[in-house]
Amino acid sequence: MASAATPTGVRVRFCPSPTGNPHVGLVRTALFNWAFARHHQGTLVFRIEDTDAARDSEESYAQLLDSMRWLGLDWDEGPEVGGPYAPYRQSQRMEIYADVARRLKEAGHAYDCYCTNEELEERRAEARAAGRPSGYDGKCRTLSDEQVAAYRAEGRTPIVRFRMPDEPITFTDLVRGELTFTPENVPDYGIVRANGAPLYTLVNPVDDALMRITHVLRGEDLLSSTPRQIALYHALTELGVADGVPAFGHLPYVMGEGNKKLSKRDPESSLSLYRERGFLPEGLLNYLSLLGWSYSADQDVFSLAEMVAAFDIADVNANPARFDLRKAEAINADHIRRMEPKAFAEACAPWLRAPYAPWAPEAFDEAAWQAIAPHAQTRLTVLSDITANVDFLFLDTPVEDEASWAKAMKEGSRELLRTAREKLAGADWSAPEPLKEAVLAAGEEHGLKLGKAQAPVRVAVTGRTIGLPLFESLQVLGRERTLARIDAALEKLGG
Ligand code: GLU
Ligand code: ZN
Repeated sequence: MASAATPTGVRVRFCPSPTGNPHVGLVRTALFNWAFARHHQGTLVFRIEDTDAARDSEESYAQLLDSMRWLGLDWDEGPEVGGPYAPYRQSQRMEIYADVARRLKEAGHAYDCYCTNEELEERRAEARAAGRPSGYDGKCRTLSDEQVAAYRAEGRTPIVRFRMPDEPITFTDLVRGELTFTPENVPDYGIVRANGAPLYTLVNPVDDALMRITHVLRGEDLLSSTPRQIALYHALTELGVADGVPAFGHLPYVMGEGNKKLSKRDPESSLSLYRERGFLPEGLLNYLSLLGWSYSADQDVFSLAEMVAAFDIADVNANPARFDLRKAEAINADHIRRMEPKAFAEACAPWLRAPYAPWAPEAFDEAAWQAIAPHAQTRLTVLSDITANVDFLFLDTPVEDEASWAKAMKEGSRELLRTAREKLAGADWSAPEPLKEAVLAAGEEHGLKLGKAQAPVRVAVTGRTIGLPLFESLQVLGRERTLARIDAALEKLGG
């Protein structure tokens, strides 16, 4: 398109089909389009490709919008915001597609194909056996009126096929460079079903043309449809529907476990899982941006604003990207540490109440939470970890974790706990330091270093061997409750 190169003329689109839960591959596509649009002060069009009534659902549509809002990926045209090319749901644009299909046929760019599936399959098998390309053979390109009449008399209803040019198609992919597709590999293809329903192959490029999309950035799985779409664009341009061909950039595959393509069905690909575990939108997007792109050689953690400033589609790598959950978590942990303390405390709220939190709502103590939150902020990988880290504050009795108990309560633990209790009872509880001194001193009496001495205290008080810094935790829990829990542990150990 003539205007593609001018900064504010950039128009990209995110155009998912509302089928099932959004997955991380889809989010990566949305993110790269969004970052590209924002970097160029362009326009992000959000279009819903819901022409497949059997697979699309309103629930999935609502989830898509909700996900985009949660991620903070805003759109300039699309559902709920409208725009000059409305409507942005393809199910509401059916007349447009019917009209374009009719015009394509009139101009000779498309034709009715009466072949049945059985006939197609038979000819495909023959071609394969003879070592010829096995795509559609063009049989119905040149049907006589008599043949058409005969087919109709048999009761056949045709599909509409687009007539591919007989020359190779070459284009420069923004990620992969120059690519050429030869005609044998790109046969004539269906654009309207026998029942009149338009297919993705038609509606997607027609809308990209009508909505004046300048850059199509999408997953590599769609690369094979690009030569078809380019040919269709030429036809649409001739008809005055399109204004040239957009630029294409295909984002690399995302590989999961065992070097297999990450599939929608893999549990780690579901966006809702990340949300429920308490990934921050910024942390998740930061990680997903690294699936094919990098900010700089020595910096993996950055903000969305930094990404927008630096993003260039030319820097996207064509090689498959490997999805690494551990790395995603590490990056998320970094984003958690970077939050304003107040924002962190607020962001944890959902995990401090039912159904995540096992304590009664009235047991929650805001002051205790505010006091402990800073110590948790530096230690969480995902926000949902907060529940287990602070439950000792809000449960009447700490959780019973047998493994922790077995690990920490050794021979001599009873004596150590007794001494520690005594020293803690006499300590100054206005700061964590004297509590540490008390446990240190108790350990010394029994020939134990601090680490060994504090383990039984921690398990007695919090139920677990690992958790937030112990003495800060004791102080927030308070003298009375701490001593009562040590007493209960002593009793369990036989007094
Ligand atoms: N609705 C298509 C999909 O979700 C869009 C493909 C494209 O970006 O062209 O796969
Ligand atoms: Zn045919």
